[in-house]
Amino acid sequence: MPAIKFRGVDFIQYDSLLTDEERLVRDTTRQFIEDNLIPIIEECNRAGRFPRELVKPMGELGFFGASLKGYGCAGMGNVEYGLMTQELERGDSGVRSFVSVQSGLCMYPIYEFGSDEQKETWLPAMQKGEKLGCFGLTEPDFGSNPGGMRTRARKVGNEYVINGEKMWITSGTIADVAIIWAKVEDEKDRVRGFLVATDRPGFKADDIHGKWSLRASVTSGLSLQDVRVPESNLLPKSGGLRSPLMCLNQARYGIAWGAVGAAMSCYDCALQYSLLRKQWRDQPIASHQLVQDKLTWMISEITKAQLLVLQVGRLKDAGKVEHQHISMAKRNNVWMALECARLSRDILGANGVADDYPIMRHLMNLESVKTYEGTHDVHSLIIGQSITGIDAF
Ligand SMILES: Cc1cc2nc3c(=O)[nH]c(=O)nc-3n(C[C@H](O)[C@H](O)[C@H](O)COP(=O)(O)OP(=O)(O)OC[C@H]3O[C@@H](n4cnc5c(N)ncnc54)[C@H](O)[C@@H]3O)c2cc1C
Repeated sequence: MPAIKFRGVDFIQYDSLLTDEERLVRDTTRQFIEDNLIPIIEECNRAGRFPRELVKPMGELGFFGASLKGYGCAGMGNVEYGLMTQELERGDSGVRSFVSVQSGLCMYPIYEFGSDEQKETWLPAMQKGEKLGCFGLTEPDFGSNPGGMRTRARKVGNEYVINGEKMWITSGTIADVAIIWAKVEDEKDRVRGFLVATDRPGFKADDIHGKWSLRASVTSGLSLQDVRVPESNLLPKSGGLRSPLMCLNQARYGIAWGAVGAAMSCYDCALQYSLLRKQWRDQPIASHQLVQDKLTWMISEITKAQLLVLQVGRLKDAGKVEHQHISMAKRNNVWMALECARLSRDILGANGVADDYPIMRHLMNLESVKTYEGTHDVHSLIIGQSITGIDAF
């Protein structure tokens, strides 16, 4: 591995906008990633292996359900939570995805829509990483429009019987519990959430192979054929499509921060490389105006993205955030990170395509991040709807 070590990115004394606690969370996560993920991530990415050995230590550091209160959770503020996901994704989007799913898409719905018994059963164990979750919303035929879902739940006695297929489900084959979103036949097809233990008869999960993105994260297809769950496994406070969308909002918020981390990794690597690499007259390529223009574009966009998520985080802490704010942060920051990855790859020349450097991995990962949790264009429509009042879906 070349001697390029991440140094952080702060152009406008951004750190002065953070509290001591916020900086502590960021620095602790950064150190954890530097010590534990960076040494193994390229091997994981090549092998298509999720680094499961990091689950327990991540639980011990309080990464799971970090912004929830009680049940052993860290009770972090939203900016602390965001800085944590930023640092996780500086390491790898796949590992950040795992944490986002465990926290924002699984623990959050149990916390928000679950009964006391469900919370006591799952949250402490999930916080420690002893139990893992997955979130089944997307189906083979419905992604951007989850309202079209075909998965159905039918009440039979004191059980629900669930049938359907879910696709592109992060952590599907390693999960102990799946949050399955289904239309309930006895409730005029209202969408509701169910806790489905993955060892129930009729539940099957298979990994999706051949992915060139998020290779260090498990992605699966789920099949539910007459899966029977006790009626107590219905998330009682879930109701309508609004419930899964609330979960997605949580996860999108973390993604908006995470993308800044991926961009910072690419930019800092390209900057250091450009100062070391010499081509003409024994001068570093950083001395050329065209290279400086690319670096300038990146540091400007990263700085704007940092400020955007920080303001969204402050609004979230104040209970004033709106879903369109989170859409703007997700849409802008993931696009920005992808552009940074492409420009950084370019600055590294041929070396940019090799996994001696993290850039190509980030670039490929960010293609998924652009698509999941609402595609870039779907977020355009959400923002468009909020400013015009017109639904263009
Ligand atoms: C690695 C990975 C992990 C994932 N993890 C999960 C998970 O854990 N749980 C889960 O439920 N899902 C997960 N997903 C699924 C993800 O959320 C969906 O892929 C996403 O919602 C997009 O759906 P789709 O792929 O079906 O694309 P489509 O909805 O078919 O969209 C295809 C294209 O059409 C565009 N489009 C769609 N509708 C419109 C419109 N009205 N106007 C203009 N353009 C439009 C989209 O922007 C996109 O460009 C994951 C996906 C990936 C790649």
